[in-house]
Amino acid sequence: MIDAPNTLERLATAMGSRDLSIKRGTSDVDYIIALGMTARANSAASAMVNLHLAQNPAAYKEAERAAVAVARHLNLKRRWKLKVRDLIRISGTALKYYICPVCPHCFGRKFDLFPGTQRLSDKICRPCHGTGKRPLPLQHGREIAEIIGALENIERVAEDAVRTKVRGRVS
Ligand SMILES: [Zn+2]
Repeated sequence: MIDAPNTLERLATAMGSRDLSIKRGTSDVDYIIALGMTARANSAASAMVNLHLAQNPAAYKEAERAAVAVARHLNLKRRWKLKVRDLIRISGTALKYYICPVCPHCFGRKFDLFPGTQRLSDKICRPCHGTGKRPLPLQHGREIAEIIGALENIERVAEDAVRTKVRGRVS
């Protein structure tokens, strides 16, 4: 049994697909139309989805702008009172973590390797404290974590919206 592809995988396939003819059931064209409707409704959502699908510098720039917008919104809502300059900096950090949450020192292995080998030692990775996750900076760590959470939520909402719209067109 093969797991049904999730919405993002379907979108990725659809955007790379040459066959956009309307087929029986849910076709690729349904997904692209649904993405278009979501994009119009929520530009931050489409920026996050595009980033995962396209992964090019233009998509990254668009996602950076969306992350800053999210940070500015949280800044007001949570009364962080951070300056724009700081918001731009921490939203950049949050976006990097969102894209690649793996610790860059141990690459998620959680332990150090024996020097000069590929064998795991029993020494836990110091920078990530053995979590295997990219460490957040101490300064504004809480705010950065909140922005990451918001970015993850946005993507989930976008996926749900696409799924609902595709279902609506099919039935
Ligand atoms: Zn590590």
